[in-house]
Amino acid sequence: MQLQRLRRTVERALLTPFYRRRLAQAGLKSSEDILSLDDLRRLPLTTKSDLREAYPDGLLAVDKSDVVRLHTSSGTTGTPTVIYHTRHDLDSWTELTARCILATGAGRADVFQNMMTYGLFTGGLGLHYGAERAGLLVIPSGAGNTGRQLRLMKDFRTTVLHATPSYMLHIHARLPEEGFRLDELNLKKAYLGGEPYSENTRRKIETLYGIRVYNSYGLSEMNGPGVAFECIHQDGMHIWEDAYHVVLIAPDTGRACADDHEGELVMTTLDREATPVLRYRTGDITTLLPGGCPCGRTHRRIARITGRTDDMLILNGVNVYPSQIEQLLMRVPGVATNYALTIEKVGALDRLTVKTEVDRQLFTGDLSALDRLKTHIAEAIKSGALIRPVVELHEPGALPVFEMKAKRVTDLRPKE
Ligand code: ADP
Ligand code: ZN
Repeated sequence: MQLQRLRRTVERALLTPFYRRRLAQAGLKSSEDILSLDDLRRLPLTTKSDLREAYPDGLLAVDKSDVVRLHTSSGTTGTPTVIYHTRHDLDSWTELTARCILATGAGRADVFQNMMTYGLFTGGLGLHYGAERAGLLVIPSGAGNTGRQLRLMKDFRTTVLHATPSYMLHIHARLPEEGFRLDELNLKKAYLGGEPYSENTRRKIETLYGIRVYNSYGLSEMNGPGVAFECIHQDGMHIWEDAYHVVLIAPDTGRACADDHEGELVMTTLDREATPVLRYRTGDITTLLPGGCPCGRTHRRIARITGRTDDMLILNGVNVYPSQIEQLLMRVPGVATNYALTIEKVGALDRLTVKTEVDRQLFTGDLSALDRLKTHIAEAIKSGALIRPVVELHEPGALPVFEMKAKRVTDLRPKE
């Protein structure tokens, strides 16, 4: 089935301007050249910057009139990436997310509160439709507004939550202030993903709430959530191999590595019409777990993601590149070139501090001008990168100077 679907995907890819060129360079003119799954190795790797280069239509393999939705990447500055979906694509994504939910033992009797952001970000809509298809009662609460979330959980007897691990910890810390007690709620399960977290954090959240936590992995280039999910055995995430072909590569050489070795996850869509993506470098480091799963599913499992190969930061579940913050910062008049970013955990949430040098003329004793500049910077970053930073202004020359590659990011979040 994978081979058949791979050929179909290559056929579709050949309809896009981007892959027609790429595949020709690799000596592939037709899907007939793919004789076995091993021939996948002949296909070029696709990177995030390739997707940016192809923006907006370079990867579109169907007529625009057959497209029914698009999602773009969370990065709102620079060139985003776009994934188009046909009716078929949305239907199969829904099927995959429904499968995830059913694999955790949830079903028609459950009430599903979806605390991920709805919109261009795939976190919200992805599981939403799957949960409906699996027959759960869906509360599309979206992210944030903790008081209202708790009120909804209590009034509608929510049993299953979908959120980032940071937000789950945050809600727990806010319970008393918001005037709720856990024993008034009816929580049983949570699907947590969108950012890395450790096995310890999972166990901690399970203990704090008295629920089961299931790891959920996805990325917008591969639809979004619903790529890989834990079943009731909570031992690695089944990756849906009828929809995604997976292989691990050594990030430095690009060569395939053994399944039980840590490597970068590379994925090919097998069942997508509008935006076929071949051998996509996810940047995510994991291993493929050996052996079968007692649940009986034959889709292989990936281990918890242990890191990323690039400098992408995940702040409260939102992806941010340091270069994106730099661009936003440098657009503000009065900001000089040297800056540094610090990330810390404050309570359960991530806090970003932006230290930046500003023009010397600004230090004239007029504090209100400096305050205005701070606010301006914080708002510019918030609007572009979706996180409101703490801003510190410094005189030129005050921040460390780098002679080699600048180290701008200090990540003080505990490594679990
Ligand atoms: P999403 O909408 O799923 O957050 P993005 O494309 O914005 O999609 O982000 C995808 C990235 O988020 C992944 O490549 C990975 O680095 C990270 N991620 C998502 N889920 C998990 C998870 N369960 N564990 C670790 N990292 C995750
Ligand atoms: Zn299983």
